[in-house]
Amino acid sequence: MAADFTLPQLDDRVLSTLNSDGTRRWMQPRDARGRYWRARVGVAITLIALFTALPWIRIGGKPAILLDVMTRQFTIFGTTFRSTETLLLAILMITVFISIFLITALFGRVWCGWGCPQTVYLEFVYRPLERLFIGARPMRGGGGAPLWRRMAMYGTFLLISAHLANTFLSYFVGTDRMLHWTTGNPSDHPVAFAVFAVTVALMLFDFVFFREQLCTLVCPYGRMQSVLLDRNSLIVAYDRQRGEPRARSAQRKKLEESAHRVGDCIECTMCTQVCPTGIDIRDGLQLECIHCAQCIDACDEVMKRIDKPTGLIRYSSQNRMEGTANTSFRYRLMLYPALLVVMVSTLVLLLARREQVLIEQERTVGSNFTLRDDGSVETPIRLLIENRTEFARTFTVHGLADVAIAGELPRVEVAPASAASILFVVRTTAASFGRGSRHGSVLIRDDGGTEQIEPLSIAGPFNATGPIGSGEER
Ligand code: SF4
Ligand code: SF4
Repeated sequence: MAADFTLPQLDDRVLSTLNSDGTRRWMQPRDARGRYWRARVGVAITLIALFTALPWIRIGGKPAILLDVMTRQFTIFGTTFRSTETLLLAILMITVFISIFLITALFGRVWCGWGCPQTVYLEFVYRPLERLFIGARPMRGGGGAPLWRRMAMYGTFLLISAHLANTFLSYFVGTDRMLHWTTGNPSDHPVAFAVFAVTVALMLFDFVFFREQLCTLVCPYGRMQSVLLDRNSLIVAYDRQRGEPRARSAQRKKLEESAHRVGDCIECTMCTQVCPTGIDIRDGLQLECIHCAQCIDACDEVMKRIDKPTGLIRYSSQNRMEGTANTSFRYRLMLYPALLVVMVSTLVLLLARREQVLIEQERTVGSNFTLRDDGSVETPIRLLIENRTEFARTFTVHGLADVAIAGELPRVEVAPASAASILFVVRTTAASFGRGSRHGSVLIRDDGGTEQIEPLSIAGPFNATGPIGSGEER
């Protein structure tokens, strides 16, 4: 006999985007065009222009930003870093993280509500277009709107997503390659086209279907808010003292006449209707709140209409909302700036001392050395030469002291901000070896006249008695 199993019934919604029966609760936020909305439009336009222009801007002939993962070169404001510069890149990343922590401690989730591409493109590109094509409160999939309007909307979304994908990928492959790909035949570069198609599909999935769930369910930054914020941080908050007890307009008069205290909140629910993540800010600070200030604009509008002071919902801090002043001393406001100073100073120091040419000895494959009849030892050496300058350079290797170069002088040309390997053979005497290897050095000279001595570890015979390891005798 089958077990009688019933799902537990939930009185309240577990997630703002989920109905109690497990179905998706589709957000259809109203417009609230107040002062914060106008300021956010200005910020959004600036950020979209910047995002679109950055890969095209050249600094010293290089893109302002190019994160070339394939060649492991990262160009940031005209300076190219290679993946070998791990310390520099690590400090750069740590500096970015500490800056985010500091900004969050001071200004809360200002990034989420004002600067994040997810919010900017959803709220100021996709959502306004949706309203334009199928109305202010569209149903899921545009149901109810004429077919041609829905088709036009999805066509426009596709074009915008394609443009967005091209811009996004330009940060990783550069605008020249992107132009070449977009003006060429997709069959000539199927992999690039496949990456482009997948990126467009992901953009469409996110901005048309997934939307606010990226902030409420996926984004790690949103999950970290409980540790990044404290009671002094700037948040969007409802003034409970002033707003409660709530009463609808119809009840207010009666309550006021019977000498009951009535708060300023008239239960109009405008603050929840405009919220893009579907929460009620009157329930207090919540992880889902992206601090977009839409509810502030909506409530201010209501307050003006009922002739009450604005700011029932406002930017404030938990402390201020509870009537206490913000703490003047905060550990995190001492710690983060101190760490930032250390990181930025280290970064500046490393950049100032950054070598223009980096040479490293690499392991060679095959025989370690050859012992010749005349008592000389020939050892193959491989050097990786990294040219961090803006010009192509030709490097020549010269022998030094008792380390001679066998054959012609090795020479290699290395393109700007690139690296190349050079393989050559050094000749030494067997008697100069002690325990299977010795030190020596060669001189590397470039066509610009710069010289540097490169120390080598040279494999050879053990106590000069004969070949060992993978060496061979001739
Ligand atoms: S918009 Fe203001 S008045 Fe209306 S329900 Fe929200 S807090 Fe209350
Ligand atoms: S509660 Fe207000 S600030 Fe928070 S996400 Fe909703 S509308 Fe934006």
